[in-house]
Amino acid sequence: MLGAPGTEDPLAITVSHQILARLLPFHLLLDPAGLVLAAGPSLAKLVEPSPLIGAPVFDVLRVVRPQRFDASKGFQTLFGKRLSVEIRALGDAKSSLIFGIALELDHGGSPHIFLALTPSVNARTFIEEHGLKISDFGPADGSADIAPLLAMQEDMLEDGKKKSLRLEMARDAAERLANHDALTGLPNRRALMEYLNEILSQNAVTVLHLDLDKFKEINDSLGHAAGDAALKHTASAMVKTLGREALCARLGGDEFVGVLNGQWPASQLHALADRLIAEIMEPFAWSGEFLTVGASVGIASARPEAEMNADKILHHADLALYEVKRLRRGKALICTPELLAAQDSFQNMSADIRRGIREREFVAYLQPQVMAESGEIVGMEALVRWQHPERGLLTPGDFLAVAERADLIQELDGEMRRSALDALVKSDHEGTPIPKVSLNATIRDLTAPMFSESLVWELDARNLHPSRVSIEIVESVFFDKNATQITEACKSLTKEGFSLSLDDFGTGHASALSLVNLPLSAVKIDRAFAAGVAADPQREAMARSLVGMATTLDLEVIAEGVVDDADVKIFQDMGCRRFQSFHFARPMEREAAFAWIKARTGGSAANLERDFKDAPRVALGQRAS
Ligand code: C2E
Ligand code: CA
Ligand code: CA
Repeated sequence: MLGAPGTEDPLAITVSHQILARLLPFHLLLDPAGLVLAAGPSLAKLVEPSPLIGAPVFDVLRVVRPQRFDASKGFQTLFGKRLSVEIRALGDAKSSLIFGIALELDHGGSPHIFLALTPSVNARTFIEEHGLKISDFGPADGSADIAPLLAMQEDMLEDGKKKSLRLEMARDAAERLANHDALTGLPNRRALMEYLNEILSQNAVTVLHLDLDKFKEINDSLGHAAGDAALKHTASAMVKTLGREALCARLGGDEFVGVLNGQWPASQLHALADRLIAEIMEPFAWSGEFLTVGASVGIASARPEAEMNADKILHHADLALYEVKRLRRGKALICTPELLAAQDSFQNMSADIRRGIREREFVAYLQPQVMAESGEIVGMEALVRWQHPERGLLTPGDFLAVAERADLIQELDGEMRRSALDALVKSDHEGTPIPKVSLNATIRDLTAPMFSESLVWELDARNLHPSRVSIEIVESVFFDKNATQITEACKSLTKEGFSLSLDDFGTGHASALSLVNLPLSAVKIDRAFAAGVAADPQREAMARSLVGMATTLDLEVIAEGVVDDADVKIFQDMGCRRFQSFHFARPMEREAAFAWIKARTGGSAANLERDFKDAPRVALGQRAS
């Protein structure tokens, strides 16, 4: 890059330089004292004195502007300024005025000057008048071919346009910089939005919104240079596949957009998108190896309508993209009215959940966990219920997936903890103490900073001991990429005195090894293996192996959802003593849960109270940590 000290607008200079180099670069190289060291052949032919080399620059030209230029201070004081200079042309009584710019090139410390014709002078006339030839300009002169300039000038003159070509080109170049993504050279978001809004005002359009599938991995594992290579590869795959019919742009990050004119039949769009994805999946070279990325595509079309604009059509394509990434990466999906309707209802529902959280409509229902033989109550699981003002009582199946997608699970679980711990306190006051409450924790909870600390704090605030709480985690959390962090969180929970249960045991793929490595105190056999075991030998075999694995590791087993006494009997034979199922009790509102305890313990819960009051600060699970 050229340095141009003393300029107010460095960009303008850079741009001007590029343009000057492409125009008529009467090209002078000066030494610091202002003697001509070298000159392009065009200038050498044009000016006096002859020979040009070695002549003082001010013998060759006279600076007209800036007017107050003091030649004794040298050319260096002009760096970056726009100049008008007069040259004394050979065999020409009238001297010619040339507009130019002096730029410092790092050329062994010598200033380097470019001079260029202004477009208001007809270049062809100028060349002819001065006895030059077009072939005098060109690479030999350190410049690009002059022919395009001449053609352009002639066109402009023909059009009668009096615009300054230099200005025009400077503007083009500046616009290019502002509207193009520097890495890929594709139009950027700004240019895309402008273009989309413009064609949407007259024409139907179709937008393909593309997002890379393994980009983050490449960036994280191989570094940004590899990421950049993936983006460039994607850009060229887009241009190659869509270039003929579409404007291709980079939205930012690993997101690209192709804009097609008109509305296309679905089959053609799918074929086009499939070709695009296949092209992107082609290996590309990087640093001596071959890498691959995948891509998913969301597609939306729109006709010009009052409420349609660039933001909206991109949002529609983005919805389809989100959906396809969720369902089957590496494919394309077209946004449909059904998808838009589903999105609407998702938005309404998540807004309603937010409102419900504010209004404290989410409460913990409590489902007893019992020892089948003695009837002893060992604990209660807190299960979220939504007391919806219009829709009545809702269960997790009605809202949990939306809460999860809307990122509201943690807030909801926070509400659950509050509600469940309050119930615990109340149960003590009522004289029907719940020995232990089980709380469901998600990956989000376990990876949240200070999860166990904040739980302890919530317990302390209520004067409760951590041994009164068991945390249920589902098997699948250990397949999350944050498995180590999760294991650490589990360890710090047991250190605080909480017990840990592995929920839905059998549905995930926890290995015996991960069971050993975790500070667990219990596993809960999923209902899928427990309900109806008595009538299904295959299920029984599965259940037996699960219970066997857990008891070998000295873990308590809770069977979920057994349907009758026969099921219970089978589990008892396997050595499982604890149950949580509708067969014993359904999840209940807390007052009903207190009444249930009261009925079971004959109004006296003294023995229960003794059981947990003496619970040691460090619970069972500690042994494995
Ligand atoms: P889960 O943790 O496995 O909870 C047990 C589910 O089995 C509960 O469903 C419970 O009502 C149901 N259940 C228990 N015994 C029987 C039975 O004998 N028959 C049948 N058919 N079902 C039985 P629920 O309350 O609908 O909860 C479903 C799932 O939603 C839970 O499965 C849990 O994964 C999640 N969930 C519930 N509450 C919360 C919460 O507060 N936070 C989080 N993060 N998840 C929760
Ligand atoms: Ca659970
Ligand atoms: Ca479960």
